[in-house]
Amino acid sequence: FVFGVLPLVSRLLRWNFSSCADAENDVYDVVISGGGMVGTAMACSLGMDPNLEGKKILLLEAGHKKEMDQVPEAYSTRVSSISPGSSNLLSGLGAWDHILNLRCKPYQKMQVWDACSDALITFDKENLHDEMAYIVENDVIVAALTKQLQTLTDQVEVKYKTKVVKYIWPMSHQAAESIPWVQVTLANGQTLQTKLLIGADGPNSMVRQEAGIPTVKWNYEQSAVVAVLYLSEPTENNVAWQRFLPTGPIAMLPLSDTQSSLVWSTSHRHAEELLNLDEESFVDSINSAFWCNENHSELVETAGSLFRTALSVLMPSGTSTRQLPPSVAGIGPKSRVMFPLGLGHAAEYIRHRVALVGDAAHRVHPLAGQGANLGFGDVACLTKILSQAAFNGKDLGAMQHLLEYETERQRHNLPMMAAIDLMKRLYSTNSAPMVLLRTFGLQATNALPPLKVWYFMY
Ligand SMILES: Cc1cc2nc3c(=O)[nH]c(=O)nc-3n(C[C@H](O)[C@H](O)[C@H](O)COP(=O)(O)OP(=O)(O)OC[C@H]3O[C@@H](n4cnc5c(N)ncnc54)[C@H](O)[C@@H]3O)c2cc1C
Repeated sequence: FVFGVLPLVSRLLRWNFSSCADAENDVYDVVISGGGMVGTAMACSLGMDPNLEGKKILLLEAGHKKEMDQVPEAYSTRVSSISPGSSNLLSGLGAWDHILNLRCKPYQKMQVWDACSDALITFDKENLHDEMAYIVENDVIVAALTKQLQTLTDQVEVKYKTKVVKYIWPMSHQAAESIPWVQVTLANGQTLQTKLLIGADGPNSMVRQEAGIPTVKWNYEQSAVVAVLYLSEPTENNVAWQRFLPTGPIAMLPLSDTQSSLVWSTSHRHAEELLNLDEESFVDSINSAFWCNENHSELVETAGSLFRTALSVLMPSGTSTRQLPPSVAGIGPKSRVMFPLGLGHAAEYIRHRVALVGDAAHRVHPLAGQGANLGFGDVACLTKILSQAAFNGKDLGAMQHLLEYETERQRHNLPMMAAIDLMKRLYSTNSAPMVLLRTFGLQATNALPPLKVWYFMY
């Protein structure tokens, strides 16, 4: 009887208190601003946490609800390479099964090579465990998480087509009595209050800007051209290919036996030219970007081949043969789009009653396919810390535990961001000393399996 009645009484009390608060003003425990891949995962993750049961959680998304009972025939141009860590998180949230039912493509091998030399690195299942990663359309990820959110309607309220236009912060700790919570004003004029605001509103985050959080950022003077590619003939297509051209990396990621996704980072001008080419010339440009050796120099080739021979004597199993990627025969209808690329990092991920996750906190070059994966890492970490705070009866918006989130994530994200930025710079030149340096580096890394596993998994 006691066990049956207590939760009922607690629910009634909670309902009473929260409805009193509602009557004054809509006060939430957590408001998540932005329902992209990261914000929707955040909402699911908090909604499913047993320690947060009974908390008022709201997700606000400016766009429409993304539902998908069946995948459209045509692949979307926006895809992400999802790491095993992220697939575990999505699995824990119950979304991975939906993704498998909709559409995703695992791959077992990755080949990364230099257009200015014969240096290459390969990653495959022998060096790693299980699938290497999965290519999933961004819309499929959001739709799968949205489906899961629909099972959490008691825990998480969601408002689509709802844009936030203004935030008012609690002034200071002294003035906390006048405005104790963060005030959120919506485009329809409604005002809400929250004890914790999570900014998941993407690289141009309004939460970050209005909170005055300093951000280190620069543009790469590059854009990524993305497109859906039709292969010349069906293949097993379980390899992700990436070649570093002096103008930027070009990647071909498997979607199915006959289709792949292109991510070609290059100068804005070249990207625009690529977008305006007729289909046949565009396809020719892709094939020659993967196949052509016009950037090779004799000096680098001789030095690289001597180094490779020395390595093969020292570590006979440490060299890989270069495979050629499948050739491309066509592109999907209306599938060419370009995105400007840049780096951004919020100096602080938190403020009193505010936390940033995903691209709102950090934006990286797509060459390592890590942006969304870093965001899912934020979701796992912030959930763990908020869950612990709720279990201990603490104020969710207090700096004390939010600081733990910031420290843990910055320790993880910053080295990753620095490595991606360094790689981008190292490969943006065809000057002989740099090409030699990276040729030796790539070949040495390829010869050392433990270093390789670290390089990929980190
Ligand atoms: C070409 C390219 C390839 C990439 N490939 C990969 C890859 O292979 N693997 C990988 O891990 N990552 C990849 N990324 C990075 C990845 O796409 C991003 O890291 C990811 O989309 C960030 O998700 P997010 O939810 O943080 O932000 P966003 O996707 O930007 O979502 C933000 C959401 O907030 C909403 N919003 C914004 N402002 C408001 C407001 N005021 N009120 C209400 N809602 C608001 C928006 O409508 C949007 O839905 C790639 C990126 C690019 C450009």
